[in-house]
Amino acid sequence: MHWLHDIKDVLPVKGEPETRDPDGIDTVVLHCTAMPGWNVWETARYHTGPNHISDAGCPTIAYAYFIEPDGLMYRCLPRGIRSWHVGPWNNRSIGVCMAYDACEEPPPREQLTAAAELCARLVSDLGLTPDRVLGHRELEGTGYVIENGECVQRKECPGRAVDMDEFRDRVAAILERSDGSDVRDA
Ligand SMILES: [Zn+2]
Repeated sequence: MHWLHDIKDVLPVKGEPETRDPDGIDTVVLHCTAMPGWNVWETARYHTGPNHISDAGCPTIAYAYFIEPDGLMYRCLPRGIRSWHVGPWNNRSIGVCMAYDACEEPPPREQLTAAAELCARLVSDLGLTPDRVLGHRELEGTGYVIENGECVQRKECPGRAVDMDEFRDRVAAILERSDGSDVRDA
């Protein structure tokens, strides 16, 4: 059982967050913080303050969902808010971030299990299929770019140790179970 805590109304925002049509969401993107020890509050403070994405700070935390190493999960944004996490894909995607520093070791088992459970629930809620769960590094225009016909990888997110094909298989297996995803609203 993985508990999903709703903290979207208490996280810091900067100015007026951008809105979007939630019906246009067709992609779930898996991320990692790539910062050792950062929790959801530190991540939100970093994103809404001056940062590597924007000198003025982003309107909101970049990620719609955040997962701690022990599998504890947070809902950080409503579906109708367009956050800045994957450039050209921001309108059509929601980001799920693991607090994981992207080292050579894979994320803790409990965290990866929670991520798969949450992605399965999102795929189900949004009427998508598991192939619409992508790692940040798999998105053209942000994870990689095509330059002169060559693929140039720009991101490793959610970490090289996370095998996205295997992850999608896990999401599919959860969706095929009769009792579905094990995520409960806290
Ligand atoms: Zn990322």
